[in-house]
Amino acid sequence: MTTQPFFEPATATEPMSIPAQRLHLKQRLAASFRLFAQYGYDEGVAGHITARDPENPEHFWVNPFGMYFGHIRVSDLILVNAEGEVIKGRARVNRAAFAIHSRVHAARPDVIAAAHSHSQYGRTWSTLGRLLDPLTQDACAFYADHALFDDYTGVVLDTSEGDRIGKALGSNKAVILRNHGLLTVGASVEAAVFWFISMDRCCHTQLMAEAAGKPVLIDPEYASKTYGQVGSERGGVLSFQPLYARILREQPDLLE
Ligand SMILES: [Zn+2]
Repeated sequence: MTTQPFFEPATATEPMSIPAQRLHLKQRLAASFRLFAQYGYDEGVAGHITARDPENPEHFWVNPFGMYFGHIRVSDLILVNAEGEVIKGRARVNRAAFAIHSRVHAARPDVIAAAHSHSQYGRTWSTLGRLLDPLTQDACAFYADHALFDDYTGVVLDTSEGDRIGKALGSNKAVILRNHGLLTVGASVEAAVFWFISMDRCCHTQLMAEAAGKPVLIDPEYASKTYGQVGSERGGVLSFQPLYARILREQPDLLE
C-alpha cells in the first residue's frame, strides 16, 4: 500500500451545489492567475489557464485577453464555448491560445483545467527537446507522466495543432512543447496549476544541475515508488492549498 505523505482534510459530507462548485472553481482560477504573476509567468499576453464549467462541460472559464494576470478578479473571468466564442463577460479571448486548450480538453474529458505560460525555465528546458529526468523527489511527480510535443511550427492558430498537442499529451499530466513552454492538466484547477509551478521549478533544477556537473538520477524503481507518493491528483490539490492560502491573505481583492 502506498503511503501518502500528506495531511488529508476531512471530506465534505454533502455534495456541493453547482453554483457552489462554480464559485469554488472561479476563486481558485482567479487566485492561480495572481500566483502566475507572482512567479513571473506574466510576460506580455502569453499564457492561459482554462477551467471546465461544472454544469456545461463544453464551456470554459478563462482569463480576459490582454489583462494583467496580477489584476484578475473572480468577476473578470470570462466563459467561452469550445469554439472560443465568449458566452459570458465583455472581454475578448485569445483565440490562438485557446485553440490549444479547447482541443486538449476535447481529447481528455477527465481534464477539468489546463495551464500554460511561457515561463522562463520551462521554455528554456523546452529548447532541449528532452523529457525531465527523475533528479529529485519533486521531479518524480512527473516520472513516466509527461510527454514531449516535438514539433514547433510557429504560433498556434488553428485547432489541428491543438489536436496534435492533445495527442502528444496522451494520458499524461503534462507536455513539454518544444521551443515554446510547458502545458499541464489536472482534474482540478488546483492540481493543474500546482503541477505547472512545480514543473517549471523542476526544469530550473535540472538546468542548474546539468550546468554544474553530471547529476545522479533516482533509480527507476524508486522514481516509480516516489511517483506513487507525490504524483497523484490528490497530491497536486493538497500542495496547492498553502499557495492558495498565501495569495488569498495577501490579495483578498481577487475574490471580488
Ligand atoms: Zn504559448
